[in-house]
Amino acid sequence: MVADKASDSPNGQNDKLDVLKSTQTIVQLALEKLGYPDEVFELLKEPIRMMTVRIPVRMDDDSIKIFTGYRAQHNDAVGPTKGGVRFHPGVSEKEVKALSIWMSLKAGIVDLPYGGGKGGIVCDPREMSFRELEGISRGYVRAISQIVGPTKDIPAPDVFTNPQIMAWMMDEYSRIDEFNNPGFITGKPLVLGGSHGRESATAKGVTICIDEAVKKKGISVNGARVVIQGFGNAGSFLAKFLHDAGAKVIGISDAYGGLHDPDGLDIDYLLDRRDSFGTVTKLFNDSITNEELLELDCDILVPAAVENQITEENAHKIKASIIVEAANGPTTLEATKILSDRDILLVPDVLASAGGVTVSYFEWVQNNQGYYWSEEEVEEKLYKVMVKAFNAVYNTAEVRKIDMRLAAYMVGVRKMAEAARFRGWI
Ligand code: NAD
Repeated sequence: MVADKASDSPNGQNDKLDVLKSTQTIVQLALEKLGYPDEVFELLKEPIRMMTVRIPVRMDDDSIKIFTGYRAQHNDAVGPTKGGVRFHPGVSEKEVKALSIWMSLKAGIVDLPYGGGKGGIVCDPREMSFRELEGISRGYVRAISQIVGPTKDIPAPDVFTNPQIMAWMMDEYSRIDEFNNPGFITGKPLVLGGSHGRESATAKGVTICIDEAVKKKGISVNGARVVIQGFGNAGSFLAKFLHDAGAKVIGISDAYGGLHDPDGLDIDYLLDRRDSFGTVTKLFNDSITNEELLELDCDILVPAAVENQITEENAHKIKASIIVEAANGPTTLEATKILSDRDILLVPDVLASAGGVTVSYFEWVQNNQGYYWSEEEVEEKLYKVMVKAFNAVYNTAEVRKIDMRLAAYMVGVRKMAEAARFRGWI
């Protein structure tokens, strides 16, 4: 399911699946609770800059195909904007805008000197050759080169993009800029100035949030039954970390279905067999649907795939006592309320998945200073940032008697609003 399909059709259900609209709703509520005047919301409800580009790519059959791409820069009051580039057939302008707002919130929550940005290209990389992917990656950078750069807007990986794609993009930007510029993009291979720990950073951050969340619920990761939707960068590393910590991963899924074993899946085998797009279920005949997967009896549920997976249709059927959102926007606002009323602890995306942008920031810092850190140093720094952020959000939720999503938005939006005020914008 992708966000734009739902938001484009004209019935009432669509607003509920409109990720931009629901993001704006909580940003407005968070600003109201913090006592900011309306003009602050007027500034923050949309990106300050949005670019739509058309990218011509010569395909392997020698035809030319034109792809549509976007780059949204939500707000640069705090510093340069930052956020991933998604290659997916469901990418839409609305989705990219919402994702850029979430990036601003994440940067605020983990206290980075950035605003949020996001990009996307409407394409299906699973059906493109290596050479075509290089063409589309380089074409995108040429198209957006005027508005991006290490002090303007710094891209990174997201759904269906990876270190190889970051390497092509960095190389293209360096050619345009006429010097080697690793700080232009993060999530690069190590040999091109990538950071230790970047590839697994999102999952590491989610793991740290799970460790903190189980303490609040009085359970332990060791022996906990876990279900993870999505087996790509975020989901697969997470499965490995939780399995190694003694959890029983009883369900995983990808875009084609899910696998379930109440005694625990063989995670090492599945990691070995998954392809570079996070697909593994096609190898099995007895798969279940993604809908069934979300409703499995478990202790911890981690959506780590796409938007709008937990809705008012299935929220009352969720059996987990803790949900930690590795994906961006997997739960609708209506579902958040149902889960909160059911006393399910929901750790929201803007907090739980902030490990990726945090280590991307570390990568950019290392590129800027030309001095590189060990994996242990990166992990230690990430741990401190995530624990502090988790507790800031959790305590706000407790004190204000609100759910963790609204609390996270309140923590995340404050720095941006203050920076805009000091600059004299509002
Ligand atoms: P990925 O491309 O590596 O993997 C995506 C996974 O989701 C794959 O297993 C794919 O098969 C599955 N999937 C795709 N469509 C699906 C559908 N309709 N139903 C069920 N599964 C589906 O992507 P990723 O980097 O792991 O990102 C996953 C989520 O985590 C996204 O929401 C992304 O925005 C978020 N996220 C990723 C990072 C990061 O650093 N990679 C950081 C923050 C947030």
